[in-house]
Amino acid sequence: MKTIEQIAAELQGYDPKALRAVDVNAFLARLVTPVSETEACGVFGALGRVLADDVVSPISVPPHDNSAMDGFAFDGGQLQPGQPLVLRCLGTAYAGQAWSGQAGAGDCVKIMTGAIMPAGTDTVVPIEFVKVDGETVTVPADVVRQGDNRRLLGEDLMAGRPALARGQTLGPAALGLIASLGLPTVPVFRRLKVAYFSTGDEILSLGEAPREGAVYDSNRYTVFGLLTRMGIEVLDMGVVKDEPAALEAAFRRAASEADAIITSGGVSMGEADHTKAMMKQLGDVAFWRIAMRPGRPMAVGRIVQEGKSSVLFGLPGNPVAVMVTFLAFVRPALQRMMGCAACEPVLLQAHSAEALRKKPGRTEYQRGIVTREADGTLRVRTTGNQGSGVLRSMVEGNGLIVLHHDQGNVAVGDPVDVMMFDGAI
Ligand code: AMP
Ligand code: MG
Repeated sequence: MKTIEQIAAELQGYDPKALRAVDVNAFLARLVTPVSETEACGVFGALGRVLADDVVSPISVPPHDNSAMDGFAFDGGQLQPGQPLVLRCLGTAYAGQAWSGQAGAGDCVKIMTGAIMPAGTDTVVPIEFVKVDGETVTVPADVVRQGDNRRLLGEDLMAGRPALARGQTLGPAALGLIASLGLPTVPVFRRLKVAYFSTGDEILSLGEAPREGAVYDSNRYTVFGLLTRMGIEVLDMGVVKDEPAALEAAFRRAASEADAIITSGGVSMGEADHTKAMMKQLGDVAFWRIAMRPGRPMAVGRIVQEGKSSVLFGLPGNPVAVMVTFLAFVRPALQRMMGCAACEPVLLQAHSAEALRKKPGRTEYQRGIVTREADGTLRVRTTGNQGSGVLRSMVEGNGLIVLHHDQGNVAVGDPVDVMMFDGAI
């Protein structure tokens, strides 16, 4: 396991006092390692879990050529351009009940959606296109081509081929796909467990009476929501008072029980509290000033307890800064720990509806409202007041406008990158 100092030495231009956002991600990618333990998980329980192994299809789906429509199956080789085709109906093929005869030239078989294509047929004409008179079925000219309305064996999945890849997060479609293969369980990485607490003597817990200079704790609730959305097991440790004994007990318990610890508050420069001191005392921790807005201060490292190491994310105190640093840095790092193959958020591009002031030399994350224009392009406006304590901006926005490190002012209509909240928040 590399120390903070060793990781820092690997990064070119590492400057803890003015770290670029991209360097934070590069640092964290080196700091964290994926969990190694795996378990077999039932399909219903696998939603949101990360696949620990490739899933190879044991069967072909569908297992036979079958009809995609209710209609009549016949040999499409008999179709002539511009000519109707008159056929004799031999019987009916139902789904789940194969029709066992053989269709020859001039024959057809009435067929239901999902029924196996009868021998001698390769084309289905939908029932609404044909004229039926007793056993005589007339296919009008040019309504189907050979092979139409037939699903081929294995067109969804072929036996022996990989159906899902290790590192994939299982969504609703993947659950259905796993079940379609007849698999009752899949191998997944064990769930990650993350402990979090808020620090600061001015922070009130719910239920406490308001007092002058104090604010209610919101960070624990946003962090809870962000972690829960990721399928992470949470250990809520409440608000921890700014006292060495309380902080030490909290860090020790968190480190012994969780894979990662998220704290908020107490890491900024002028802090007169004990949080930073305790992090330093118990762990191998770097204290950064990141060239970003919001969310300049951050502490990152490891706390080791009884031979077990836990990754520490010491986030700033301001509520918006907590969410932004989580989305920009913590989330991809935790995804890596969960075994996810894809940890990079997908950025979209939208045209700015406003002129935005931006100084090159830091990354800014403004809260934006992305809408779709009549011509199909995306447009983004800010939510207004971008103060790092204005949590309302995160509620009103549907994404972050990411103004990159070297980027300068944005003019009306300029394209900007946006990180959509959907799926994360
Ligand atoms: P700090 O980083 O501790 O200096 O905190 C920066 C600002 O965030 C201060 O105004 C704090 O009152 C506020 N803050 C810190 N922790 C929380 C929290 N858990 N919930 C809401 N606001 C907080
Ligand atoms: Mg504080």
